[in-house]
Amino acid sequence: MDSAFQITLLPGDGIGPEIMSVAVDVLRTVGLQLGISFEFQTALVGGAAIDGTGHPIPSVTLDRCRESDGVLLAAIGGPKWDNLPAHLRPEQGLLGLRSGLNLFANLRPAQILPQLLNASSLKPDVVDGVDIMVVRELTGGIYFGQPKGIFTMESGEKRGVNTMAYTEGEIDRIGRVAFDTARQRRQKLCSVDKANVLDVSQLWRERMTLLSTEYPDVELSHLYVDNAAMQLIRCPKQFDTIVTGNLFGDILSDCAAMLTGSIGMLPSASLGASPPGVFEPVHGSAPDIAGEDKANPLAQVLSTSMLLRYGLSQPQAAMAIENAVLSVLNQGYRTVDIFSPGMKRVGCAEMGKLLVEAIGNG
Ligand code: NAD
Repeated sequence: MDSAFQITLLPGDGIGPEIMSVAVDVLRTVGLQLGISFEFQTALVGGAAIDGTGHPIPSVTLDRCRESDGVLLAAIGGPKWDNLPAHLRPEQGLLGLRSGLNLFANLRPAQILPQLLNASSLKPDVVDGVDIMVVRELTGGIYFGQPKGIFTMESGEKRGVNTMAYTEGEIDRIGRVAFDTARQRRQKLCSVDKANVLDVSQLWRERMTLLSTEYPDVELSHLYVDNAAMQLIRCPKQFDTIVTGNLFGDILSDCAAMLTGSIGMLPSASLGASPPGVFEPVHGSAPDIAGEDKANPLAQVLSTSMLLRYGLSQPQAAMAIENAVLSVLNQGYRTVDIFSPGMKRVGCAEMGKLLVEAIGNG
């Protein structure tokens, strides 16, 4: 019986193909090392799909994703497609993927690696040891609530409207992902809302509190979003797992990410109720350095370790990749975005070779 994991690769645009190639080499190597087989198929998304098929997320791509065990995405977009009408822009590829696969949970880790302590704009003693996971609700809340739009009132004045709404079911399903995630980490979950002002947040807090009775081993706390933003900068080490809605999560996950100071290092996972999830770096397609072998592939590679851990339940393989990243950084190798004097500067492809070697030696 064939037990290979089916992985759909979506290299997308800009630096996407360069960093994806490194991620695939790394995945193949770790697979050989640990006896896990992968079968890869590549599909079009974003600008590449617009050029190839006229649509940012062709149905054949969605079908391939649905049939696979996990989806590895690089990045989409670039100036070439910036002037297309909104429904044909590359970003629609991302939205189409999220809604097509019903990915309602976005996991964004922000971990400070000791080797990159000085990359943060905060003082090293504030960020040393930071290891946070932000779990953001992705398909509900104010970005999707109805009514929405710009309406003309009787007076002739225009009024812009968005609606922040969550059902109990939507809160419970993201809550469960967050509690399960916290359980695999340091068993501390902070739910972020604005329950002092918003009714929708009062329901959010009520449901999270109710859910916590199912997870007696996880310590639940609550923070208002304004305080959470302050605490993330003041004392980020107090956090383990954070769960919050779409809008607050959008802002706080970027805030948490910047504690680490290096966008080329940050992975993410978007999960639904069942596989496949989509695993991708936080950064964009970096058109300014595309094709120059300058891209940092580590966010893509760490997205691959999230695929193994959260998408395929292969924590040992995930750890082998994370250890390889640490080993290469310990040896002083840096791509240009994380370079500092005294380190050894390498390109994207060379970084890939070093990772493959490190896994082989692991
Ligand atoms: P960006 O993340 O692509 O780049 C911002 C800066 O960070 C650039 O200077 C870039 O060179 C650098 N950078 C990003 N990733 C890097 C890496 N791995 N290694 C080294 N340097 C890296 O953001 P942007 O410039 O605002 O957007 C460029 C394009 O990407 C736009 O079309 C945008 O819409 C798209 N975008 C896509 C995604 C996604 O696919 N999820 C996310 C954000 C932006």
